[in-house]
Amino acid sequence: MDQAIETLQKWVDESRRIVFFGGAGVSTESGIPDFRSQDGLYNQKYPDPPETIVSHTYFVRRTEEFYRFYKDKMLSPWAKPNAAHKKLAELERAGKLTAVVTQNIDGLHQDAGSRAVYELHGSVRRNFCTRCHARYDGMDIILDSPGVPKCPKCGGLIKPDVVLYEEGLDSDVLYGAVEKIRDADLLIVGGTSLVVYPAAGLINYYQGRRLVLINLQPTGMDSRANLVIKGKIGEVLGQIQVR
Ligand code: NAD
Repeated sequence: MDQAIETLQKWVDESRRIVFFGGAGVSTESGIPDFRSQDGLYNQKYPDPPETIVSHTYFVRRTEEFYRFYKDKMLSPWAKPNAAHKKLAELERAGKLTAVVTQNIDGLHQDAGSRAVYELHGSVRRNFCTRCHARYDGMDIILDSPGVPKCPKCGGLIKPDVVLYEEGLDSDVLYGAVEKIRDADLLIVGGTSLVVYPAAGLINYYQGRRLVLINLQPTGMDSRANLVIKGKIGEVLGQIQVR
């Protein structure tokens, strides 16, 4: 075991209120592309950058194009949790981790068995009708519609329960996440470029002295971290023992 992972293991062993804060990089080992890696969606050819397409304005004005991209790139019904998702669920079961705070919308933490999951940006597994507010769980309502999904009850436009750019975060989710982070004795941040706000700002609420960053590329917060591990998050967390 290299020294950084040994330190992480020691800190995990000594902690009882671990919080994990993650982003799209947590799911790349499950085959879901992130936004900013080399193979990320920013580097693929689309008429507009992904953050423009998954914006509120785009959803309202160019609904068909929004859904073409969304179905093609944001829905991954085949994806399975990887070693990172599984280890975090194991830490929660062992009573050592109090929350996963995620910017991801893919639902893989829950698939792995995590229960205390704060989904800052919502979930592709929930949808609602913008007219009659009927709710549709799962992805079928979207996947089964050939074009723009419409409500079977009233014909209204269906919107995924995800936070699009220009939209605000759910305040209950946000405050819940802040509370857990504030109370954490170890904060592990991983698989995120930490450039999407307000989500990235949440780590400022951490008051402890054990801030760990696990990422493939450097982030703007590396200098503030007490431990930086450059590597794949599934490979790193996969080596940690829960005891
Ligand atoms: P990002 O694409 O901006 O950054 C991902 C970061 O993870 C990069 O720094 C990259 O180096 C790193 N990374 C990639 N694979 C990794 C791995 N295996 N191990 C460790 N690090 C790895 O992602 P972000 O910061 O989450 O911001 C993008 C926004 O897009 C988020 O708001 C998120 O909601 C959304 N998004 C979600 C998904 C998803 O739900 N799976 C996928 C794409 C984008």
